[in-house]
Amino acid sequence: MANLPSHASPSFGAQSPATSHNVDELSLTLNPTSTPALHSRLDDIRDDAASDRGDMTPAVPASLLSPSFTPPATPGGTINTAQLLQQAQLAGVRTDTTHTKRPKLLSCLPDVECIVRARIPTTTGAEMFLHLYHNDLDNKEHLAIVFGNTIRSRSLDKVRPGETEMDRMIRGAYMGKLRPGRVSSWTDDEKNGESSNAEVGGAVSGSQTPLQSNLNEAPLVRIHSECYTGETAWSARCDCGEQLDEAARLMSLPMETLNEVASQQSMPVPSNAAGGVIVYLRQEGRGIGLGEKLKAYNLQDLGSDTVEANLLLRHPADARSYGLATAILVDLGLGADSNPHGIRLLTNNPDKIQAVEGPNREVVVKERVPMVPLAWRSGGKMGIKSSEVEGYLQTKISKMGHLLQ
Ligand SMILES: [Zn+2]
Repeated sequence: MANLPSHASPSFGAQSPATSHNVDELSLTLNPTSTPALHSRLDDIRDDAASDRGDMTPAVPASLLSPSFTPPATPGGTINTAQLLQQAQLAGVRTDTTHTKRPKLLSCLPDVECIVRARIPTTTGAEMFLHLYHNDLDNKEHLAIVFGNTIRSRSLDKVRPGETEMDRMIRGAYMGKLRPGRVSSWTDDEKNGESSNAEVGGAVSGSQTPLQSNLNEAPLVRIHSECYTGETAWSARCDCGEQLDEAARLMSLPMETLNEVASQQSMPVPSNAAGGVIVYLRQEGRGIGLGEKLKAYNLQDLGSDTVEANLLLRHPADARSYGLATAILVDLGLGADSNPHGIRLLTNNPDKIQAVEGPNREVVVKERVPMVPLAWRSGGKMGIKSSEVEGYLQTKISKMGHLLQ
């Protein structure tokens, strides 16, 4: 992991041994078996506390100075659980000693850049465009799953110095559709070249007409955090897989089907006329990583609920953060600067609304669209059936303020 940026693993930021400040009270909260690495990290914290420069710490960007931390690796990576536990402890120390600085957490959004986009035909017949993002907070590949043809990434469409038309098409910065022999990223010959170079570097003017007529309604947005167990390994401990499927279904249904579904369900079904985005954040296990999540599952089998298990492992109940999602939505043209309609957020978690809107309301949530579990909606005929998921949903309601109607 030697190529990680210095902030990716906050326990091991390079430090000068010369730092010594008189904040000895910190040591009262320390684990007496601290390792040298821990000491070097504590120098960092002392330095923060004494110099009052908090979020200016070179090794840790401002947006990481929070009780939340992002694990250094996603599944398949090598996570040292002892280090993670230390990080959690240190996150606690940091929170206690710098609590007056916490509001600065979200003082600005991270920088994000869409590196590549590709069309993905799906098993349901709908098409989506998968956007892969890099950012200046962590080294993970966060994703945006975009439904509809009107939502485009500014950073992707921006012209890069020295690139050829082929380069642009390979990284997905093209209008219309790709086909064998196509030579221009800007002009889709099949459509008689309706777009032009006027689009360079800014909002894509070639698609303005359909965009504006479709934006009579705010786009549907779902912020989804990676859940390997629930999405890939068939887990019935949580409903993440079902929620991801349902969000994609709502965003990809043709309008006529939507109306039909709405009449069948005798409940409002949100229209997807303005397109939809699922921002897929790589923060497994509410941000604690897969290894720690599996330990939490064992604690749950020993009698803890999902919140207690995280706390027993010295992690925050919820270590996720959403600044990256806000930044990605702004890049996709759904921010307040370019989208007067706001967004409709698919969530049961009211805290998520404020988190997604960002520090200066860079994104405006016009409406919250609830995600009622399929099993509840269908009277138990469909959806996940397990005692574990019932307990999980119950804890979300009683301890995490979720609204499940
Ligand atoms: Zn899950």
